[in-house]
Amino acid sequence: MLRRRMGLLCGILAILAAGRAHAGNASPARESVHILLTQERQLQEQVKVVHRQILDVNEKLKQIDERISEQSGQASTYSLQNQQTVKAMTEKYSIVYLPLAMASQIPVWSWNWEEREQKKSQLALREQAIKEKEQLQTTEKQLREKLRTVSDSIMKATGKVQKEGSIDNLDLEKLASLLAWPVPVSKEVTSDYGWRNLNGNVEFHTGIDVAADLGDPIHASADGVVLFAGSAQGFGNWIVIRHEQGLMTIYGHMFRNGIQVKPGQTVRKGDLIGKVGSAGQSYGPHLHFAVATGMKSGSMVTVNPWSFLEQ
Ligand SMILES: [Zn+2]
Repeated sequence: MLRRRMGLLCGILAILAAGRAHAGNASPARESVHILLTQERQLQEQVKVVHRQILDVNEKLKQIDERISEQSGQASTYSLQNQQTVKAMTEKYSIVYLPLAMASQIPVWSWNWEEREQKKSQLALREQAIKEKEQLQTTEKQLREKLRTVSDSIMKATGKVQKEGSIDNLDLEKLASLLAWPVPVSKEVTSDYGWRNLNGNVEFHTGIDVAADLGDPIHASADGVVLFAGSAQGFGNWIVIRHEQGLMTIYGHMFRNGIQVKPGQTVRKGDLIGKVGSAGQSYGPHLHFAVATGMKSGSMVTVNPWSFLEQ
């Protein structure tokens, strides 16, 4: 993992250097396609890392908020206790002895004060985490812009056209951890999202290929409604589920009997929806998992699934 990260870091530096060297070159030569593909892959990996960091900050924020609400619950109890103590003492002692009586309660008040200080420090941590998150979100956006530029160059160099969906109008805050991994028994990605060179043929891979055994369970990535479940060109059979904000998940290469849902059916995150197959244009049992924002002239407009995966 460390070696991978180091490699990634070197890759980013290389991209920055290459990006500069490339500026002003309107039509990249065909031999540069290889370099562009490498840049694209490194940027895609970087998107994953930043997304993971955003999820980590979200988790940190959740914990801070829990501590703050716990503390404010305690603080209001103490404050009520203090008010009651003062009231009781005012009734019990004359104005002369009241300061003395109150002084005897100092440990209680100082505890209360400590609680307030702790709350202040939690709020400071919260502010810091929010800033951190904003920076990461900016980085993620910049990476997406760089990817668009590299992708445009690949299209120019290869003559291939790939229209990706835009996620700029989506509420990414809400969708950041919408999707669960669809094949819990396997994390093995054999071909990732993005441009790839398949036996000398450069093409855009619209999803993530997850290698698994035939019949391994496929689970719904999030709550939603099944739009399609049946045969689809290239995929053998597919399932398409529509989720919040119009986001869709696509599951491909199942055999006909591997489809366990029907169009119109409501599914919950984690429900069994199908079984891994190898139908259609497939090189072995795997799930092709894609995320789309819509449909245009009969084909899905896909986006990077890693921007929505919870892990
Ligand atoms: Zn695939």
